[in-house]
Amino acid sequence: MQIIDIHTHKSKADENVISIFSQALYADEIESKFKSVGLHPWHLDKMGLEELISKLFERAKKSDVIAIGEIGLDRAIATPFDLQEKYFKAQLGIAEHLNMAVIIHNVKASSDLLNIRKSGNYKMPWIIHGFNEKKDSANQLIRMGCYLSFGHHLLDESSKAFATIASIPVKNIFLETDESEHNIEDIYKAAAKARNMDIEKLSEKISENYNTVFGK
Ligand SMILES: [Zn+2]
Repeated sequence: MQIIDIHTHKSKADENVISIFSQALYADEIESKFKSVGLHPWHLDKMGLEELISKLFERAKKSDVIAIGEIGLDRAIATPFDLQEKYFKAQLGIAEHLNMAVIIHNVKASSDLLNIRKSGNYKMPWIIHGFNEKKDSANQLIRMGCYLSFGHHLLDESSKAFATIASIPVKNIFLETDESEHNIEDIYKAAAKARNMDIEKLSEKISENYNTVFGK
């Protein structure tokens, strides 16, 4: 059974798990086979826009980088939203230019994401990570070519995530550990339970999604 952790901030050496380590653009390089690289909306003060663009181009071309992220929009922080949008769109543009999928941090900004996706002619897959919203929001994002990644929220059976993952197409699902201490296997178990699906079958489907998005 192949297990994929689509978004983690912990570098792990588990050979049975394919994991995409989230490498912050300003931070020291961490050893990991597969990485995403980007500037998170919480850390925009770490570099100017020009510097971000040139550094991201340079880093993203390295062979270990398979996605741009995590980048995104967050309506729960003090950083002006128009500034967040500027940094976000610059990084989305680089993803398009380099033909890379994007791993997205989204806090209370699903409608903003939809508007950007609709108005910007974006072709690359966007993976909205840590998803914990209702199915209406999920389906709107899926219709616009997004994937949804679910994490520790699934361990709470009363969560929106647990209900939503049961109601969306399996071809749009990924699973993740993010910052949590949980094993990705436990997230897979919870997802399989929510969907009333065999865990082997679910992992097969998620591997197919991975191949679709990353072409590996
Ligand atoms: Zn994260």
